[in-house]
Amino acid sequence: MPVYKAEGIVLRRQVIGEADRTITLLTREYGRLRAVARGTRRITSRLAGRVEPFTHGGFLLARGRSLDVIAQVEVLRTFPGIHTDLLRGAYAGYVAEVVDRLLPERDRHEEAFTIVLRTLDVLEDASEDAAEMAALWCGLRLASELGYRPEVDACVGCGRALPRGASGPAAAWGFAADAGGAVCPACLAGHAEAMRTVPGVFATCGYLLRAAPEHAVRLRTPPGQRRDLARLVQAHLEHQLDAKLRSPAVIGRLRAAGASTSTSRGAGPDAGPTR
Ligand SMILES: [Zn+2]
Repeated sequence: MPVYKAEGIVLRRQVIGEADRTITLLTREYGRLRAVARGTRRITSRLAGRVEPFTHGGFLLARGRSLDVIAQVEVLRTFPGIHTDLLRGAYAGYVAEVVDRLLPERDRHEEAFTIVLRTLDVLEDASEDAAEMAALWCGLRLASELGYRPEVDACVGCGRALPRGASGPAAAWGFAADAGGAVCPACLAGHAEAMRTVPGVFATCGYLLRAAPEHAVRLRTPPGQRRDLARLVQAHLEHQLDAKLRSPAVIGRLRAAGASTSTSRGAGPDAGPTR
């Protein structure tokens, strides 16, 4: 059976049959792909611990008839800081969901791989607010890389530049997901569905689209603007995907419950028919 190597990150795993899992990998060389990890539901499996979500490793894959098979994994990083913190884990889940749905299968996209790896790197020891910024940075950068960059520097209707330090009616801007960007107060009447927000949120968005993740996570933003930013990124991604994201609701519930660090080691997302 012909084999090949790939550097990859485990995005998710799904149960198949009695003992196996399918693993969705984001690889540097081949983009997103699904492969079978045989026997990984057995407690004696040596492979099982190497295909946990977010594991970064060198994978040896064997070509199969329908799905390829993971033969060996050389683990490079396991991100224990993500696995032992519910909220970091949930934001990593958001990253995995976005890239899994945004990137077509077997479409090589090295920059997307780099964006995800850099995000996991900053998530590893991120505070609650930093974890959120890292996930939003990743969502915006992936969208931008794949050709869905939102317009946040000017109004999509009339081209008016984003004002600096606007207040009162001049600050009543909106984000129209269907138009792909910011809408000024004068153009808002034509966009009834637009999410209302202030120019500062678009400025933050623009910063995230340009900044390195290490800088993005240190950004200080008022809580109200932070919430708007998260809603804006979600609305933008969901419009591009033409589907709802599941992870923001999970994150919302965790944050409402005050989830914090030092949880028991979670098994991570392991979707499957029945467990
Ligand atoms: Zn306008």
